Amino acid sequence: MNRAEDIRRDLAEVRSRIATAARAAGRDSASILLVAVSKTHDAAAIRAAYEAGQRDFGENYVQEMAAKMDALGDLSDVRFHMIGHLQRNKARQVVRIASAVHTVDSARLAVELARRTSDAPVPETRRFPTGGCLDARLPAFIEVNIADEAQKSGCRRGEIDEVATAIETEPALRLAGLMTVPPHTDDPAGARPFFDALVALREANGGVARFPELSMGMSHDLEYAVAAGATIVRVGTAIFGQRE
Ligand SMILES: *Cc1c(COP(=O)(O)O)cnc(C)c1O
Repeated sequence: MNRAEDIRRDLAEVRSRIATAARAAGRDSASILLVAVSKTHDAAAIRAAYEAGQRDFGENYVQEMAAKMDALGDLSDVRFHMIGHLQRNKARQVVRIASAVHTVDSARLAVELARRTSDAPVPETRRFPTGGCLDARLPAFIEVNIADEAQKSGCRRGEIDEVATAIETEPALRLAGLMTVPPHTDDPAGARPFFDALVALREANGGVARFPELSMGMSHDLEYAVAAGATIVRVGTAIFGQRE
């Protein structure tokens, strides 16, 4: 695990990779949000990244997110993004602490999140996106199982509209965009067709007006995601080091 100065350096390196990829794609790097994936790393690691200016963090487990939120209670503007598979019985807990849920994969989960969100709106300092957005709805991303992998979570491509409609029907939720984790390929370029496929699915289901954000790209393939149009990249290892 990286120490504070390693985290600061590696975070700067990741930001620079994003900026370079954005420039190459003719995009403004300010339009790309870095979510630092802190799963398995302790609250001290998050604090080090926070002190280096990072505000958005990704966690895969609600319990772990809650423990870190507690440990970082003095940082009122830290934002946690739920990026792991979410069971409906965890909805109540997640809506109290998460600034966004990237892994809505069924209409039933959307309904449950909404039911739990209406009595626990996201605090203003933790709202996503930032930038004076006066919107207390919980941002919900639809996770798409882009390559129909049996072991992966996410809805099927053909279910996007149904899940999107369920989210749009709920006043407590805001449809934020689409999210995917492509199949692993040793060559990061191998992820590009899957990123392009998510972009195509967005177009086929209502376009950028309906799905403003694309959450895709991780440590090894973020350049390809930015080139394809990612607005959020989720990066863990390249910032915090290898996980145990
Ligand atoms: C762990 C994880 C990441 C970060 O992966 P790295 O390869 O460590 O950058 C991104 N997204 C999801 C959904 C993850 O589970």
